[in-house]
Amino acid sequence: MEYTSMTLKELSQLIHKREISSLELTENYIKKIKEKDHELGAFITVSEESAIKTASWIDEDILSSSSEKLHPLVGIPVAIKDNLCTEGIKTTCASRLLQNFVPPYSAEAVMKLKKHGAVIIGKTNMDEFGMGSSCENSAFGITKNPLDTARVPGGSSGGSAAAVASGLVPYALGSDTGGSIRQPASYCGVVGMKPSYGRVSRYGLIAFASSLDTVGPITRDVISNAAVYDAIAGHDPKDSTSMRGCAETVVDKIENGSVKGMRIGIPFSLIESHTDKKIKNAVMSAINLFSGMGCKIIDIELPDPALTLAAYYAISSAEASSNLARYDGIRFGTRAEDCLSIDELYKKSRSIGFGDEVKRRILLGTFLLSREMSDRYYKKALFTREAIKQDFDKLFSACDVIITPVSPGLPYHIGKYKTEPSARYSEDIFTVYASLAGLPAISMPVCKDASTGLQIGIEIIGRFREELTVYQSAYALENEIKNSERRCENDI
Ligand code: GLN
Repeated sequence: MEYTSMTLKELSQLIHKREISSLELTENYIKKIKEKDHELGAFITVSEESAIKTASWIDEDILSSSSEKLHPLVGIPVAIKDNLCTEGIKTTCASRLLQNFVPPYSAEAVMKLKKHGAVIIGKTNMDEFGMGSSCENSAFGITKNPLDTARVPGGSSGGSAAAVASGLVPYALGSDTGGSIRQPASYCGVVGMKPSYGRVSRYGLIAFASSLDTVGPITRDVISNAAVYDAIAGHDPKDSTSMRGCAETVVDKIENGSVKGMRIGIPFSLIESHTDKKIKNAVMSAINLFSGMGCKIIDIELPDPALTLAAYYAISSAEASSNLARYDGIRFGTRAEDCLSIDELYKKSRSIGFGDEVKRRILLGTFLLSREMSDRYYKKALFTREAIKQDFDKLFSACDVIITPVSPGLPYHIGKYKTEPSARYSEDIFTVYASLAGLPAISMPVCKDASTGLQIGIEIIGRFREELTVYQSAYALENEIKNSERRCENDI
């Protein structure tokens, strides 16, 4: 049987009916990874031995029990982005600096999956410490887009998105600071959710920019995504910014919700001025489908994109420079040899350990936090962020969700930004809004580009804490796309 194109629900039904064991499923995926991943480079580590052990244990201890009500993730393999700590499994952040780091504990989101019977099959490639949007900034090689291996899969969770899109794993966890779940999901044609800030614990997520970092699922379809979200969301006292109160489960409520009458905000002029024609068409096709379902389309204006991008890069780099100060070659990571002083040890260890993009962000962030510059730039960025949040509060009194493209264009060719790395930053124009405002946002495929075979995604942003509305609208659109005879085949 071909399992690799199945949704989580379908796989879970097979496991529940005992038509397949967790061990068979796990071995099947490991075989696929061995056959295909050398072309893609989606994995940094395949944890074969521990996955087999866990799967066998699940088969013996859980599936042999008579209980009919098993959690939908029981026995199913998952891949984890390599910046989420996994006890006993190497966690490198795609950095030479952490190339031999084996965490003594697991991230809370990983622990929650384990408690629900998930089988960790491996760790996925990413841009080093999450800094990038193409998976080209990894110390362990580039990941390629499974839809066209000459192009990038997006990033920084590019390994997770490529693994799911190519059927090497049924679902994966990623992290998103300024778009790192949503953009690779869109580039690879899968579904990626960035929950509200604080909804999923950051405990054990190796920090990039703590006030923006989030953890979320990447799956092939919306319902599977919601099932994983339900499993990982919830308050965690180990994370001081974790949201209080129970996270309501969403998966059981998605199918009941109707989008009729829903008010959808679309930033038409921003889309007009900042996207390729193919992307515009994809967004328009989604808008038409929503209109057909009885939604009200409202023309909105988003905050200035140049200011928003500048605020994101200032805040994230400032926080990164502070977070990454801990990598001193003494307590963590690679230690340079033959140093004659402590200063030389710091300098050499960090010079050898960090890649160029990480060094660029540390330099920028340290500069912005310096006494003379912090008022002029960093504090201004914080004010801008506050203003953006208030703008979104206002927008959400007139709309229930906001739809934007995920990226200005199709996935680009590997190497496009090699000589001008910071030009890549403007690709994040649509995703950084929800990051700065802390809002939930999903990215889902809506269109296939006929001339390249690539997928185009859109982003649906919801009010703070309203993941359910985001999932309900994404689910309604996904169904409408499936049922629509006019399936969007963009060929311009
Ligand atoms: N592309 C953005 C950056 O490089 C976002 C990265 C992320 O979300 N981790 O900062």
